[in-house]
Amino acid sequence: DFPRASRTICPDIRVSFEFFPPKTVAMEATLWESIFRLAPLRPSFVSVTYGAGGTTRERTHATVARIARETIVKPAAHLTCVAATRDEIDEIVKGYWEAGVRHIVALRGDPQDGVGAKFRPHPQGYENSAALVAGVRRIADFEVSVSAYPERHPESASVEADVDVLKAKIDAGATRAITQFFFENECYLRYLDKVRSKGVDIPIIPGIVPVQSFKQTANFAARAGASVPQWLADRFEGLDDDPQTRRLVAATVAAEQVLDLVDRGVRDFHFYTMNRADLVYAICHLLGLRPNPEQKAA
Ligand code: FAD
Repeated sequence: DFPRASRTICPDIRVSFEFFPPKTVAMEATLWESIFRLAPLRPSFVSVTYGAGGTTRERTHATVARIARETIVKPAAHLTCVAATRDEIDEIVKGYWEAGVRHIVALRGDPQDGVGAKFRPHPQGYENSAALVAGVRRIADFEVSVSAYPERHPESASVEADVDVLKAKIDAGATRAITQFFFENECYLRYLDKVRSKGVDIPIIPGIVPVQSFKQTANFAARAGASVPQWLADRFEGLDDDPQTRRLVAATVAAEQVLDLVDRGVRDFHFYTMNRADLVYAICHLLGLRPNPEQKAA
């Protein structure tokens, strides 16, 4: 019998939130509403993604810099090795340091042609994620997070090969890994056992995706190499035209997942927010997080 930690308010739950840089004025408004709604929950950090092929360089920078300027939340900037020279990437990294940003999520990235296309390092670029981590650490004393794949990266020969890459990133200076999203907690827990048994001791934070749209999530999962269990499809069956029920089901599914992880001793969670606050806010509430009243008022 597990002690049901999720039934009490655990004082040591920590969360972080991931956003993507907005493309339009309307999307920008939604993003900032979400940031201002979630910020009073005192996340450890909020991160902003970097478009495939480096396509959002300016927008990522602008969003991260505004978070640094206008909120008390610590921002983290995602950065990839794709389609840029080392000098160009180093300039971006220095720009972040000057803007007061102290945390980079360093990734190899996918080519601009999309997932499945072969990654070719730029001839003068960083050749892989470990080289990027080392490059960022050489420039300044950044905190560096990296990716981890409980169900294997789609290009990877085996989980073992993934673990070797993770170890190379840690040797290069990474201090935290955030996982690709998953729906079966057993998958994450097995992966955690495996990496711990291989001497990996940095935090491996589970990445949680609330299912805003089942179709979209299933497509995304297929590209990312995350499996979508039949029970999840069953839960959303028949709800394509019923957004209201879908949202209630989505909140329930994600709450079940995180509360089960709490019962198994997990205390850190990274949420893929898709720039929407409501589901994530509700799940954080169930995790026992309450807004800081002063920040809420501000
Ligand atoms: P790595 O961890 O370096 O490698 C992933 C796998 O590829 C390895 O495990 C290994 O199997 C194989 N591999 C890599 N290098 C080698 C090698 N030298 N030899 C053999 N095998 C190798 N993408 C974006 O474009 N922008 C983002 O902002 C972004 N944010 C992300 C955030 C998180 C938390 C995660 C999990 C992913 C994110 N991605 C993002 C996706 C990521 O860029 C892709 O999954 C990409 O294909 C791999 O990048 P990586 O840093 O995860 O690769």
